[in-house]
Amino acid sequence: MKRILVLLVGVVLFSCNQKTEKDSKDDTIENSAEVLVEPTKPEETEFYEPVPPTVNPTGQNGVPSDAIVLFDGTSLDGWERAQDRGKATWVLNDDDKSMTVNRGDSDDNATIQSKKVFGSVQLHIEWKSPEKIEGKGQNRGNSGVFLQGLYEIQVLDNNDNDTYVNGQVGSIYKQSIPLAKASVPTGDWNSYDVVYHAPEFNDAGEKTKSATITVLHNGVLIQDHYEIKGTTPYIGWPKNPPHGKGPIKLQDHGSPVSYRNIWVRELD
Ligand code: MG
Repeated sequence: MKRILVLLVGVVLFSCNQKTEKDSKDDTIENSAEVLVEPTKPEETEFYEPVPPTVNPTGQNGVPSDAIVLFDGTSLDGWERAQDRGKATWVLNDDDKSMTVNRGDSDDNATIQSKKVFGSVQLHIEWKSPEKIEGKGQNRGNSGVFLQGLYEIQVLDNNDNDTYVNGQVGSIYKQSIPLAKASVPTGDWNSYDVVYHAPEFNDAGEKTKSATITVLHNGVLIQDHYEIKGTTPYIGWPKNPPHGKGPIKLQDHGSPVSYRNIWVRELD
């Protein structure tokens, strides 16, 4: 019995000793981080790499030189009808290099999407509500810009036209109320400048990181690094289906909204 007691005391003392050694090792790491010597010369905090690429901010036609132009007014070749990947039926307008929602000979929804697909992007897009004011609430100049084909930034003629605020112009539809309403007069051109980071999913299809979005409406911050909860349906809660890259989608909501000057810079 006495021998067993001595053995137990020995084990306890050994364990304590081990812990002490580990703690002191951690302390040493912490201390070494804390005791990093404060620089005394300016060059000690000046770095020369990695060197960022040079971008001409007003490259060809005023578009940044490393941007992918999705629409410049000359062609709908980069776009397709979203529901069946058929031919885009929107009208090209030579006078202002824009395109306008149009269903052509069909009653089918004419929502279009870019043929190219994207993850995280910087997006520039300009849009215009119809000059002829028709309808009210959600039925006046409704369209939308969808990131990765799933997450809508609302486009709406909200001038003297109230609606639910999480569905007003600049909202992340049914999710995030914009910080301000920064629309120009109906019939003038608006711009959205967007910084969007795509969500991430694990192999089991579960979301591991939410998408985030920042939006400037005519230069005014209206979404400030908002964490997107999921898809933006008209009815129901946001959903989070796993997905990879997706298109920029422009909504046909039955109103002849126009778009022009669309470009993206890929961020991944
Ligand atoms: Mg819409």
